[in-house]
Amino acid sequence: MKEIVVISGKGGTGKTSLTAAFAAMGGKQVLADCDVDAADLHLVLNPEIIREDVFIGGSKASIREEDCTGCGLCVEHCRFRAIEYPVAASGDRADKPRINPVFCEGCRVCVRICPVEAIAFDPAESGRLFVSRTPLGPMVHACLGVAQGNSGKLVTLVRNEARAIAEREACELIIIDGPPGVGCPVIASITGANLALIVTEPTLSGHHDMQRAAELTAHFLIPTLVCVNKWDIHPGMTERIEKEARDHGVIPAGRIRYDQLVTEAQVRRTNVLACGDSPIGEEIKALWRCIEGALNGARTGGAGLKTVPP
Ligand code: SF4
Ligand code: SF4
Repeated sequence: MKEIVVISGKGGTGKTSLTAAFAAMGGKQVLADCDVDAADLHLVLNPEIIREDVFIGGSKASIREEDCTGCGLCVEHCRFRAIEYPVAASGDRADKPRINPVFCEGCRVCVRICPVEAIAFDPAESGRLFVSRTPLGPMVHACLGVAQGNSGKLVTLVRNEARAIAEREACELIIIDGPPGVGCPVIASITGANLALIVTEPTLSGHHDMQRAAELTAHFLIPTLVCVNKWDIHPGMTERIEKEARDHGVIPAGRIRYDQLVTEAQVRRTNVLACGDSPIGEEIKALWRCIEGALNGARTGGAGLKTVPP
């Protein structure tokens, strides 16, 4: 079983549109949307949810009013300003404080400081994990709750579930739509993958983001390819990014033009390849052939990235 993860230094580079198009060519596969902060692969794959699990990411504090004496120690010591005395419309302040669960970071300081043990600390729902059926294969996706921290735990659960399905259903490929950036969620989605594809745009920030992503995949010895999306809006910058990529041991695997067909496909809730033959479709197919070649030949080792080009 092989895993390819599609990442980008920042959001909005076209990562998900490309992942959906790859899914249309991948064959027997499992799809995993690891961008749990802003999952959107489901928007173009029309999934039918067949399982939904609650994700408990940590615990939150809550005050038992009946035990609280209103001493205010917890208010004083909460560094996240999650505990306050509610103030009525009349301007009167309540006798006992309340915890705002959105601001509570679960540090537990208030629990330790409360002299009368009036603060409970219970596991709290942080999100949901879904297993779905799509026309292009099973998909595992998730949704992190509002203001919940994404430490990578939920990403790991998504990947583990995708692997379990792939093993059960004898799928040889897992295509992962990774989160943007270079933080914990990205690390959780690339570790142990066979290949990473960095999708970037020909802008200064795209150039910088590609560098950061390439450094991250190099650190974890993940063979890496790069693709410049909307390359024709700045051919000069595309050249620069591809040169920089080569300097990092990352192989430029393809260029994808700017095309409104991508937006049309999104509006139609499908992938670009399902919109008929098109020049951009041919470019995506060529990119996928390159990825398949690299997946079959990729090997890790050493500080540099050594991806066998197709
Ligand atoms: S657990 Fe920490 S963040 Fe949450 S209310 Fe208590 S002191 Fe504040
Ligand atoms: S420290 Fe305990 S008793 Fe004091 S205000 Fe907070 S919850 Fe109430």
